[in-house]
Amino acid sequence: MECFDLVIIGGGPTGLNCAISAEKARLNYIVLEKGALANSIYHFPVNMTFFSTSQLLALGGIPFISHTDKPTRREALEYYRRIWQSWNLKVRLYEEVEKMIPIDNEYLIQTPKGSYQAPAVIIATGYYDTPRLLNVPGENLLKVKHYYDDAHIYVGQKILVVGAANSACDVALETFYKGAEVTMAIRESEIYPKVKYWIRPNIENRIKEGSIKAYFNTFVKDIQPKTVTLVSQEGELTIENDFVLAMTGYLPNYNLLERLGIEIPAEEPRIPIHDADTLETNLPNVYLAGVLCAGMQTSKLFIENTRDHGDRIIQNILKKRELVETN
Ligand SMILES: Cc1cc2nc3c(=O)[nH]c(=O)nc-3n(C[C@H](O)[C@H](O)[C@H](O)COP(=O)(O)OP(=O)(O)OC[C@H]3O[C@@H](n4cnc5c(N)ncnc54)[C@H](O)[C@@H]3O)c2cc1C
Repeated sequence: MECFDLVIIGGGPTGLNCAISAEKARLNYIVLEKGALANSIYHFPVNMTFFSTSQLLALGGIPFISHTDKPTRREALEYYRRIWQSWNLKVRLYEEVEKMIPIDNEYLIQTPKGSYQAPAVIIATGYYDTPRLLNVPGENLLKVKHYYDDAHIYVGQKILVVGAANSACDVALETFYKGAEVTMAIRESEIYPKVKYWIRPNIENRIKEGSIKAYFNTFVKDIQPKTVTLVSQEGELTIENDFVLAMTGYLPNYNLLERLGIEIPAEEPRIPIHDADTLETNLPNVYLAGVLCAGMQTSKLFIENTRDHGDRIIQNILKKRELVETN
């Protein structure tokens, strides 16, 4: 078992940002990441472009240089590698946290590779690991994808894109331009009004001209190997289909949070219990950081507007340590 001042769970932008704050405060910390460095971003669509400018994504005083104002996934991965190297951040990769046991005012954190004890813990596990499911028959078929990678595999295929937010519109456009036959099933009566201003006219015009077929006020009823059945106000419709791309968003890993002992209200938006100022949870000295703090409201917090979380948490940890030392 190894002892630290602080364990940070998750090596995404938020975990790395918290590690920089811990470095600045000279805390003995470790980041435990279940996959590769910035694992969620590594699994983002290969050709994706961030909606934030690189300037607003920069961390730890290291300039984020990109070819255009908005960086690509590839540029972001380069940037996170550079941050890790420049700050010499202490990150253990491919170590998934499974358990956290309170012991004598500290916490024992267990992964399949080791045990770590610390008086303070930051949970920065994001929301990209748990897709928001359609919960319809056939969703477990291999042709149904909740993550989108690259358009090439969909060339010449009949695709159903479910959803009408940024990711769904991006995927519909990219697969259409690369030669897929694209249909969209949209629960609402229009494309999500907050779709980015440089995407929305393009998708609306493709729908208007009929090159992408969109069914509004429509739900997926069930998915069969060669078809999909949709339900709208007009009734049921079965269409031929090769792949379903369910771009319906993602949720925090509530199962993990509950296993770690974090209290979560049953009613939506299921924001894990935490203090809005210090970010401390119901467990003393256990903090939440990053997009996780918004629960199911996953478009409310992002990298851009949570970059202060690391400093806020570390200031609280230092303040508490000072109080203990002066008593
Ligand atoms: C397609 C897309 C585009 C986006 N574009 C932008 C944008 O332009 N600007 C912006 O500000 N935000 C954007 N966001 C939102 C934001 O980038 C992401 O949500 C971001 O990854 C959040 O950072 P995070 O570190 O909080 O979470 P994540 O990046 O999800 O990092 C969490 C990390 O925790 C790890 N982890 C999970 N469970 C465990 C465990 N049990 N043990 C150890 N490690 C674990 C994961 O592997 C992951 O690496 C976008 C999101 C998506 C999906």
